[in-house]
Amino acid sequence: MVKIIKDFISTNYKNRPGNYMKPLYITVHNTANTKEGADAANHAAFVKRSSTAVSWHFTVDDKVIYQHLPLNENGWHVGDGRGTGNMKSIGIEICENADGNFEKAVENAQWLIRQLMHDQGIPLANVVPHKRWSGKQCPRKLLNRWDSFQAGIAVAHTNKKPTVKPTTAAPFKTAASKPAKKSYSLPTGILKVTKPLTKDQQ
Ligand SMILES: [Zn+2]
Repeated sequence: MVKIIKDFISTNYKNRPGNYMKPLYITVHNTANTKEGADAANHAAFVKRSSTAVSWHFTVDDKVIYQHLPLNENGWHVGDGRGTGNMKSIGIEICENADGNFEKAVENAQWLIRQLMHDQGIPLANVVPHKRWSGKQCPRKLLNRWDSFQAGIAVAHTNKKPTVKPTTAAPFKTAASKPAKKSYSLPTGILKVTKPLTKDQQ
């Protein structure tokens, strides 16, 4: 059980557009912010600034979870404009602050995802990395261990051991609709800048 603090973005801010959403996916991000103190509370303060253009639903650190948006409203977090990623997925940022325990933050996020999958009826196959939507190398610390990350969702904060299914490790298809290559890297030229930008694209 991880504490979830509801601390919603003000309804009159541009990063709380208020479009109705029925979540079909859960999108996982890393904050890419390793500064000391860049924890969930710090990101909650960031998204509540009137100047912030991006938003997502939860930020998870090694101790606590902040919720920034209701689950039936969209956020701007994957850089696909009004595509499925922004309009139909719950965005979760996992902190990587230098003064936090990243592996604990990961387990807290896995636990949260398990609750959300259950409550929203979302299958494990629809728990996806940010990369799925825009090609962005995010969550940068989990892409190279995505199978074990997914396997850990079932057992986070239990005493059970994860079971990793052997998979073919197919690379994620990206919005660029080019045939997926063995490597995760894509030519930078095909990454279109879409609005609204996510902070990950800056
Ligand atoms: Zn991201």
